[in-house]
Amino acid sequence: MEISLKNQVAIITGSSSGIGAAIAKSMAESGASVVINYPSENSKDKAAVILKEIIDSGGTGMLCQCDVSKEEEVINMFKEVTANYGTVDILVNNAGIQVDSPFTEMTMSAWNAVIGVNLTGQFLCAREAIKEFLKRGINPSRSVACGKIIHISSVHEIIPWAGHANYASSKGAIRMLMQTLAQEYGADRIRVNSICPGAIQTPINKNAWETKQELDSLLKLIPYNRIGQPQDIGNLAVFLASDLADYITGASIFIDGGMTTFESFSTGG
Ligand code: NAD
Repeated sequence: MEISLKNQVAIITGSSSGIGAAIAKSMAESGASVVINYPSENSKDKAAVILKEIIDSGGTGMLCQCDVSKEEEVINMFKEVTANYGTVDILVNNAGIQVDSPFTEMTMSAWNAVIGVNLTGQFLCAREAIKEFLKRGINPSRSVACGKIIHISSVHEIIPWAGHANYASSKGAIRMLMQTLAQEYGADRIRVNSICPGAIQTPINKNAWETKQELDSLLKLIPYNRIGQPQDIGNLAVFLASDLADYITGASIFIDGGMTTFESFSTGG
């Protein structure tokens, strides 16, 4: 069985590092042309390194600067990509940030920053992607679906997280956004799903795995007893975007080493 994304164009937001970079590499390996999105000049060099790795391994792609929380910039990203590749087949809404604090100390700017990138950014990109999918229609030489959207959510779309009210709220809301879009555009053959990672070793959660003590404490939450790797998510994203997953829409798929089995109940409760 071959998983192929040949002839397809995939935008992966926030793909200059971590999970997004792994998804971009995996999708490129499966034949897609990938758009490496980064938010500002500061992350341009990192994005260029990822694109070079992809091209050196025989893949194709382009860079695109866009802050996903800004409407104008998102509209321009889709214009730039469609001008270059003709259309877009796959959107991976991956860009995300954390700005943590105890709830009573949470500032408006911390709240707005996280909701702006993690939720509004996913809304804006999904809206532009669906407009493009509907304009193009189904083209069986690309995919049996008209388009695919993968939201990168989190186990925190169902696990409350003290000290991270903005982040957990953004991920909980992504579930409803994803399911509503799957319902609204199912008849158009647009598939919309979420990947909900547990603890994946990336810069966003460095403080949870940097020292042996922190890692040991994290592993107590993971029945499978290892931290996840970005490649674990890349593998799932390729499957979910491919026609092998054609009957999957409106689903949150947890990929967490069993974290959502609530390991602490193995000895208590
Ligand atoms: P990361 O910090 O490596 O990646 C986040 C990416 O988002 C970066 O490349 C960053 O440049 C980009 N970004 C930030 N603001 C942006 C903006 N305004 N516009 C465009 N891009 C922007 O961390 P990661 O772990 O790879 O996170 C990727 C996604 O996975 C996030 O949505 C995160 O919430 C989610 N997630 C991560 C974990 C984990 O354990 N690492 C677990 C669950 C969910």
